[in-house]
Amino acid sequence: MKMRYRDLAARVFDDEIRFPAFLPSVYGRNVPNTEGILVNVYRIWTDRNYRTASSKDIHSFLSFNGFVLPESGWKQIDKYGDEDVTNEDLVHLQERMGFPVVAPLPAGRVEDAIINAGLAREMTEKSLFLEIPASWTEKEVLAFVEATKEWAWGYGTHSDDPEFLEMLLRVVPRSKKIAVLGIHHPAIIPVLAAMGADVFSSGAHARYASRGLYITDASIRPLSEMEELPCSCNACENRDPDDLERNRELLERHNLNAFLLEVKRTRNAIAEGRLYEYARRRAMTHPDIYRKFLFVVRSDWVLENLPFPKQNSIYLFENEFRPEIELGKRLARERGANIDHLAFTYPFGQTYPPMIESRPEPEDVVRAVFRYQYGIDVDVSSLRWELRKGIPRKIFMGETYIGLIRFEDGFFVPSIEGARWLKELLPPPQGRIVVDEDGVQQVRNKRTPLTDHVLDVDPGLRPNMEVIIVDENDGVIATGKSVLTAREVAEIPRVPAVKVRHRAV
Ligand SMILES: [Zn+2]
Repeated sequence: MKMRYRDLAARVFDDEIRFPAFLPSVYGRNVPNTEGILVNVYRIWTDRNYRTASSKDIHSFLSFNGFVLPESGWKQIDKYGDEDVTNEDLVHLQERMGFPVVAPLPAGRVEDAIINAGLAREMTEKSLFLEIPASWTEKEVLAFVEATKEWAWGYGTHSDDPEFLEMLLRVVPRSKKIAVLGIHHPAIIPVLAAMGADVFSSGAHARYASRGLYITDASIRPLSEMEELPCSCNACENRDPDDLERNRELLERHNLNAFLLEVKRTRNAIAEGRLYEYARRRAMTHPDIYRKFLFVVRSDWVLENLPFPKQNSIYLFENEFRPEIELGKRLARERGANIDHLAFTYPFGQTYPPMIESRPEPEDVVRAVFRYQYGIDVDVSSLRWELRKGIPRKIFMGETYIGLIRFEDGFFVPSIEGARWLKELLPPPQGRIVVDEDGVQQVRNKRTPLTDHVLDVDPGLRPNMEVIIVDENDGVIATGKSVLTAREVAEIPRVPAVKVRHRAV
């Protein structure tokens, strides 16, 4: 799980493939050339050529080299009332065909679902992909995840309700993937990615194509009503609706492209730090999606996971709820910082048009920044500073340089001397990442300490926070910028916990 970018509660990371990912639900011929697919195991079970199929490796059976995530086919089994197929049959089939991840049969009752997962675990060493019925209560989800998390690759749901998703995200360890299956329109992807969903899957591209329906940016339209194709993908370029009407494979390919393009644009928006704007624009597609968007950006989960500060300016078009501004206000209020004095500090100093018109005195800026970032009162009379465009920049205590107020976001970034001074003012583990002897050695070797080396962290740790890296005796060994939340540090093994900025060892 290599973290690359994050915005709101979304994370772009590399693992088997790049996430967030779209995995089309496909089977048989016409497996598209995507990074990954979702395969319904029950369909292999009921295949006329089952005997040939089951003797092959799943990749050679489908002539597909990418990542294959299995889905048990629970819905179909339920629908057709197939009593003959058992959990063991399906797990055995996946194991024999070399699925990289194995999906046991879900169940309506938690107790049965736990038994199925346990049996699967006895039959395979592979990690499990576990489906969670949207009807389960939080208590039931908690019991299931508690019993299965050690074996899980991730958890899937057919619910696109962001409230249910938030509950899942709170319960599931941060090292596991969360998949939303069966989505109906691409526009929901950036909205649910903003909440933290990692995988999206759907077979809708083919279902729509079989009914002559074409996915546009805003809706799903019958080809027969269209005069031109508003798309330049490889299926649409230089063609008109009649061409796609005649060749449904092209239509299917366009519909699939619409989902794939959406996930790429979502990842790009995360990398640009513009996921809020992008998700909002896409949510305007439909009032239901917009309602979900509003729930997501106002959720506590997004506030808790929000990278802060960010280097982006915030464009304000109207009176909107911006999680960055909400978090800034909340921190200022809790820590007793005067917002008028934070006129150069993120997010108040980065909005356009500006939120704060006044130009505070340098002394007030320094005092407010320490209150805002650390909740501490510093004796500003013991400090001096250099000004740049009237804003305090390099900060000194006597002759000692203790850090700078970063021009881009108005946050204090301590030097090693500054970290030693600051740490005495902060009760442990506030502002700190505490690493063991191996972690110290990593820093000494100019490497990044991994989460496995972390003994303790500031419980308020979030991505982009300036932190002091200390050893077990609270000695400063480095300063850095965090890339994870406190929960992620505890729950994701073997990933860099912090980007080291200055070393003391
Ligand atoms: Zn197209």
